Amino acid sequence: MTYPTQPTASHFIDGAYVEDTAGTPIEVIYPATGKTIATVYEATPAIIEKALASAQSAQKAWAALPGVERGRILRRAADMIRERNHDLSVLETMDTGKPLSETLVADATSAADSLEFFGGIAASLTGETIQLGDDFVYTRREALGVCVGIGAWNYPTQIAAWKGAPALACGNSMVFKPSETTPLCALKVAEILHEAGLPAGLYNVIQGRGGVGAALIGDTRVAKVSLTGSVATGRKVYAAAAEGIRNVTMELGGKSPLVIFDDADLEKAVSGAILGNFYSTGQVCSNGTRVFVQSGIKEAFLARMTERLAGAKLGDPLDEATTFGPMVSEAQLGIVEGFIAKGIEEGARLVTGGTRPDRDGFYLLPTVFADVTDDMTIAREEIFGPVMSVLDFETEEEVLTRANDTPYGLAAGVFTNDLTRAHRMVAGFEAGTCYINHYNLAPVEAPFGGSKLSGVGRENSKAAIEYYTQIKSVYVGMGDVEAPF
Ligand code: NDP
Repeated sequence: MTYPTQPTASHFIDGAYVEDTAGTPIEVIYPATGKTIATVYEATPAIIEKALASAQSAQKAWAALPGVERGRILRRAADMIRERNHDLSVLETMDTGKPLSETLVADATSAADSLEFFGGIAASLTGETIQLGDDFVYTRREALGVCVGIGAWNYPTQIAAWKGAPALACGNSMVFKPSETTPLCALKVAEILHEAGLPAGLYNVIQGRGGVGAALIGDTRVAKVSLTGSVATGRKVYAAAAEGIRNVTMELGGKSPLVIFDDADLEKAVSGAILGNFYSTGQVCSNGTRVFVQSGIKEAFLARMTERLAGAKLGDPLDEATTFGPMVSEAQLGIVEGFIAKGIEEGARLVTGGTRPDRDGFYLLPTVFADVTDDMTIAREEIFGPVMSVLDFETEEEVLTRANDTPYGLAAGVFTNDLTRAHRMVAGFEAGTCYINHYNLAPVEAPFGGSKLSGVGRENSKAAIEYYTQIKSVYVGMGDVEAPF
């Protein structure tokens, strides 16, 4: 069985599917064909109200449950997601165009990891005791309340769980708005959570464009907003959250450096650069798109990269042999083609790719530019597509300065066999997520997030708990109360 692409209804609120066709229709397009596979309707004010009201009314009883009970439900949902991985992966492929060979191992499975990890941690959330002579202070780690999650289109299942799992583990409720481009998968996460026993109202999904997100953030019932999106949207969402002094997690864009020294293992470095530029057709926020290659290894790197890219199997994403799918939308494809034209115009050398293959759908060949300089548009702006820029460098000191010369700070990587140099480089990188001799893995056990313009807060790992709870400090007097008069 695979899921029908047309969902039961557009929204999932208070434990059930809800439809309201008064909202503006949103066509869901399969990127491999350009054909419409579903229609959902944007949330109307009545739908937004219903979602927020149900999230608010369910939250307090949920927070009052022992953590072990909350965790058990999340872990049950994780098991159900693993059992249904194939069907969920097919749906993710239809939603995003990413090849099934990827979605089978990186999307629903990552959502399950997140639910399992935070389900496991829910029972061990505690405050602390601070002794002050006979008096003492104890702290209670409490939920924030109603959290809003807003997702990007590149990892719809994963983002829905990366925000929902820690929020729920900590006793919050959530209203999640997926990207209008990929509205299907978050509904399945909601459905499975409730099937696993989550009480109604705790995880709601409503559809819509930016305006729906903005309406959610502006509501006084909302305690926190977690966004995965671009820096431009991040600025708007952060500003709107500031108006109500709300908590935020901002997972935004990047222009991350990947530094390859000439003592690196060439094959591993090429593999890392492929993972950091072409996985998910380059639509990954942490991609290492500025590939700095030391001059001694540059031509060998380019030659091997070109050979390896020739082995990419571009094709039908539902064919498990396919390893390179289309871009998510015609609009995103157009944006990336604009960057490629800019790269050529500004004098970068096109090594391979740069054009659409001769087939339907939003496909673009994996593209590599060499002789890229720091001031070129393709080296400065986030492209969010399968375009690698290779820049030359000579010394460690020079490359570190250039790697950090960006307003972004999401990720950074280094390939070298010099142990101390690897750690020196990582200490110097201005980025939240770093890699030595690997690239782009995001296990749930490790904190993930950015510095500088790339974001605020961390997702995954124990670190995420800090962003979904607040500390209440309780002073306990054990003796007389002295007062000045
Ligand atoms: P956008 O910033 O365009 O949109 C992100 C989400 O915010 C969408 O759901 C969008 O709705 C919504 N939105 C837009 N305007 C507002 C608003 N004013 N108020 C509230 N919500 C709003 O990002 P994309 O979907 O295009 O995703 C690509 C971007 O996401 C890239 O820059 C990428 O780097 C970043 N990203 C970051 C990651 C990270 O973890 N750091 C991971 C993945 C992606 P809609 O689009 O439906 O209109």
